[in-house]
Amino acid sequence: MVKMVFLNFLFPRHCIGCGSEGNYFCFNCQRKIKPLDFLICPICEKPAIDGLAHPRCQNRYSIDGLVSLFPYEGFVKTAIGKLKYHFMTDLIEDLSNLMIRIIKANKDKFKLLNYLEKNSESILLPIPLYWQRENWRGFNQSELLGGKLAKHFNWQMRTDILIRQKQTQPQMSLKANRRQENIHGVFKIASNIQIRTCLRQNLVSGEISRHSNILLFDDVWTTGWTLKEAAKTLKKSGFKKVFGLTVCR
Ligand SMILES: [Zn+2]
Ligand SMILES: [Zn+2]
Repeated sequence: MVKMVFLNFLFPRHCIGCGSEGNYFCFNCQRKIKPLDFLICPICEKPAIDGLAHPRCQNRYSIDGLVSLFPYEGFVKTAIGKLKYHFMTDLIEDLSNLMIRIIKANKDKFKLLNYLEKNSESILLPIPLYWQRENWRGFNQSELLGGKLAKHFNWQMRTDILIRQKQTQPQMSLKANRRQENIHGVFKIASNIQIRTCLRQNLVSGEISRHSNILLFDDVWTTGWTLKEAAKTLKKSGFKKVFGLTVCR
C-alpha cells in the first residue's frame, strides 16, 4: 500500500479518456461510456436474445452464447492496449470495476451473467496464453481481469483445465480468412483433469463436473475463432454448457 501511494505520488494517474489527473477512468468519461447496443449469437453474429446462440445455428460442439460488454473503441480499447502491450497491470482494478458496474447497471441486457451468478456450478475460465508468451509478458491479462470478476460474481475461476499447446500468431495481425486456421487445434484439456458426470460436491481434487457452466473469458471478440475453438475443445471432452464473455466486441 505504501509503495502504491508512493508510486502514485511519483507518477500521478491520468484519465485514459481525457488526460485529467486522478484516475485512469475519470468520472466524466465513465459516465459517457455505454454498453454495446445489442448482444449477438456467437455463431452467425446476428442479434440474439440474451446473447444465446440461435438453436438453428448450433451444432454439437458449438459455443452456447456470448456476452460482450463494450464496443471495441475509445478509452476501453486504449485501456486494453495499455494493459497488454505496455504492461500497465494497475489498470486491472479500474477496468474490472467499470465492467462490474456496467453489468450491474444493465441487468436486463446481461441476464445470462445473472443466471450464472446464481448458479453454484459456474466456472470462469480465462483463455490461456501459451506459456512462453505468459512468461514474456509476466501475466495473462484475461486471468487478472477474470479473477476480479469471478470474485465479485461468486464464480469459481479455474486456470488448470484448458491449456494452449502451441504458440500462434496474434489473431489481430491476421486477415479474417486466416484466423480459423491459425487457431485450429491450439487448445487441449490438461491431462490430470478428470471430467465426471457427478455434481461438484461429490468430486475429489482434479475432478470437474461436465455439468458445470463454463464461462470462457477473453478481452476482445473479433472474429471469435479463439473462443469458438476453446468451446469446441471443452465440449468434445464432455462439457455440456460453454458460454463466452468478453470485455469488448
Ligand atoms: Zn476522463
Ligand atoms: Zn445465430
